[in-house]
Amino acid sequence: MNPVYDFTGKVALVTGAGSGMGLATARAFAESGAAVALVDLDESALKAAAGELTDSGHQALALTCDVSDEDQVAAMVDRTVETFGRLDMAFNNAGIQIPSSDAADEPADAFDRVNAVNLRGVWACMKHELRHMRAQGGGAIVNCSSLGGLVGLPGRASYHASKHGVIGLTSSAALEYAPRGIRINAVCPGTIDTPMVSDMIAKGDLDRVEAEANQPINRLGTAEEIAQAALWLCSPGASFVIGVALPVDGGYVAR
Ligand code: NAP
Repeated sequence: MNPVYDFTGKVALVTGAGSGMGLATARAFAESGAAVALVDLDESALKAAAGELTDSGHQALALTCDVSDEDQVAAMVDRTVETFGRLDMAFNNAGIQIPSSDAADEPADAFDRVNAVNLRGVWACMKHELRHMRAQGGGAIVNCSSLGGLVGLPGRASYHASKHGVIGLTSSAALEYAPRGIRINAVCPGTIDTPMVSDMIAKGDLDRVEAEANQPINRLGTAEEIAQAALWLCSPGASFVIGVALPVDGGYVAR
């Protein structure tokens, strides 16, 4: 996909950058001139991703971090700023899926795990990014929600609760920081062809044909299509866009 943004001199941080839409977004930021901190739990995927970018002449920093651990999050945000001198843009994207479950049968540890990563992880990342952006007096943050942040689906109550929570965090913090020059928005992907979705299909937790048919565009989305939305939300082209939960879903929630 053709990068149309010029982020030369800017610094971007992307969580979940070892795979799927985080990896695509880290690449797109780098190709648009930004220095990029790539953050992930998966150390080998992370090293490969950062190595690919530095081999192509981009500035990239690999930071292993579990976003559900606030101390690790604080350290990785500080490391980013120590290394690159500032922080202008962040895509808080790291997330997990859990097996679908009848709401009456779901184990508490599944609820706790999905909310620790998908909701508390976004909360912690946004908190520590804002500390630097507040001091700088500007920045743009995009949090990764989901179509699951906008609608319900049987069997998915805990995952959807985490993604609805991301929208609450986003809109409240967006109102708080709009007067201070920091724009905060969320992106809500539909079903996107990433390792997360391949894994759900392989485990029989999602049917590809049904998932394609459920999106009015009749196909799954690509990680690059989410990257383009994240970059636009961080760009000056979205200078008047604050606190939105942007569906990028082939029309799923428009039905
Ligand atoms: P993915 O391919 O599985 O990539 C997610 C990355 O996040 C993986 O590298 C994963 O590492 C990492 N990660 C997981 N837990 C982490 C943690 N605690 N700390 C740091 N990194 C962690 O998934 P994706 O499909 O690109 O999903 C990205 C985001 O989009 C997630 O928030 C997901 O909920 C959301 N989303 C996805 C879809 C979809 O259809 N794919 C739709 C809507 C929303 P490991 O591989 O080691 O777990």
